[in-house]
Amino acid sequence: MMKKVVILGGGFAGIQAAIELKKKKNLDVTLISDRKYLYLYPISIWIPVHIKEFEDLKVQLADIQKKFPFKLNIDKVTEIHATKNKVICENNTFTYDYLIVASGADKIQHKGIENTLSLCGKPELALEIRTKLDELVKKGSGKIAIGFGGNPDDLSAVRGGPAFELMFNIHNYLTTLKIRKNFDLTFFAPMQEPGSRMGKGAFAMIGKMFSNYNIKKHFGKKIKEFVPDGIIFGDDTKLNSDFTMFIAAGKGAEFLKKSDLPLSEAGFIKIDNNCQVPGFNNVYAIGDAAAIEGYDWIAKQGHLAELMGRNAAHNISESEKGGDKRKGYKEHLSILCVMDTGNGAAFVYRGRKNSFIIPMPIVGHWMKKGWGVYSRFTKTGKL
Ligand SMILES: Cc1cc2nc3c(=O)[nH]c(=O)nc-3n(C[C@H](O)[C@H](O)[C@H](O)COP(=O)(O)OP(=O)(O)OC[C@H]3O[C@@H](n4cnc5c(N)ncnc54)[C@H](O)[C@@H]3O)c2cc1C
Repeated sequence: MMKKVVILGGGFAGIQAAIELKKKKNLDVTLISDRKYLYLYPISIWIPVHIKEFEDLKVQLADIQKKFPFKLNIDKVTEIHATKNKVICENNTFTYDYLIVASGADKIQHKGIENTLSLCGKPELALEIRTKLDELVKKGSGKIAIGFGGNPDDLSAVRGGPAFELMFNIHNYLTTLKIRKNFDLTFFAPMQEPGSRMGKGAFAMIGKMFSNYNIKKHFGKKIKEFVPDGIIFGDDTKLNSDFTMFIAAGKGAEFLKKSDLPLSEAGFIKIDNNCQVPGFNNVYAIGDAAAIEGYDWIAKQGHLAELMGRNAAHNISESEKGGDKRKGYKEHLSILCVMDTGNGAAFVYRGRKNSFIIPMPIVGHWMKKGWGVYSRFTKTGKL
C-alpha cells in the first residue's frame, strides 16, 4: 500500500512539497489548507495602488491539483499528535505515515494593533489598505505612516521588504496623481538600521531613496502602542498618522501549542538541516513555520520556503527508497528580493560570501510582474 503523506498548509512551502511529491508518483499525498487558494504575497504591494486586482493574486488549489493530483481538504488544523501520527482539524481527523507542517506563522500582537492594517496578514487586508488609501486620495491630503517590527526571540521572523515596497509604490502613485506634495509620508521601525539585513548597499540605497522622495524616517524607537491617529513610542512621543500600515514580526502559530512538536523560544517548529523535526523521523517542518538557523542576517522568505518544500519531498522519497542522500537548506540560505517602486525596482541579494544591489529602473518592475505570471504557470503545470 502507498505510504500516506499529509501536508499542512497551501502556501509556497506546502504547495512546492505537494508538487514535488506528486512528481514522484509513489506516495499518497493529502494537502490540508484553511484557504482554497495559494496567495501570491510578494505582488500584493500592488493591490493598494490599483496595479493589481485581488483576484489576480489567487492561484486556486483546485487548479494546481488538476496537474498534480494530490488529495485536497479545506479544513483548519487545531492539534497535532505526532507521537500518534495524527492531525486534528475542525471537521476531520487525519492519520499519516509522513507529516509536513507548512502552515506559516502568526504575527506578534502589539498593543492597539487593531488601529493598523498589515499587508502580511489575511490576504483580504490588502483590499482594506486600498480602501484607506482611496479615502485619503479622495480627501486630497493626509499623513501616512508605514513600518515594521522585529521579534527579539527570533530575528529571522522580520518582514521589512514589503513595507519599503508599499511606501515607494504609494509615493509613486500619489506622484502620478499629482497630489504627492499634499501628503506626509513617514517610515518607522524600532531598529536603528531597518533594512540592513539585506546588506549595507541595500540599506544605503533605501536611505538615499527616502531623501530623494521626501519620505521621513523615524528609526530606533521602541513602539509602545498604536492609537487611531498614530503611534506612541517608548519615550511617550507620538507620530501622527491618518493611516498606519504596520507589519508585525512573525511568531509561531498559536495552534502549535496544542502539538507535541518541539518549539523554539519564538514558537516555531525546531528542525535539523534536512527540515526534519528532532525526535520524529517522519515529521518535517518547512517555510515560515520552521525555526531556521544560520547567519545573523537570515530572514524567512518565499524562495526559501519553496526550497525547503523541495528538500522535504526529496528526503521523504529517499527515506522510502531506503537511500541515505538527504538535502539540507542551510547551504542555500540567502536573501533574494526584487524591491519594487511602482515604476522600477532594485534586485537585492545577500548570500554567505557577498551582498549586492542592482538598480533596475522600469525593467525591474516588469521583471517582478513576470515573476507573478511565471509563478502561477509553474504551479499549475502550464510551464
Ligand atoms: C506582502 C509580502 C511580500 C513578500 N515578498 C516576498 C518576496 O519578494 N520574496 C520572498 O522570497 N518572500 C516574500 N515574502 C515572504 C513569503 O511570502 C513567505 O516567506 C512565504 O509566503 C512563506 O510560505 P509558507 O508556505 O511557509 O507560509 P504561508 O505563505 O503563510 O502559507 C501558509 C499556509 O497555511 C495555511 N494555514 C495556516 N494555518 C492553518 C491551519 N491552522 N490549518 C490549515 N491551514 C493553515 C494558510 O492558509 C496558508 O495557505 C513576502 C511576504 C509578504 C506577506
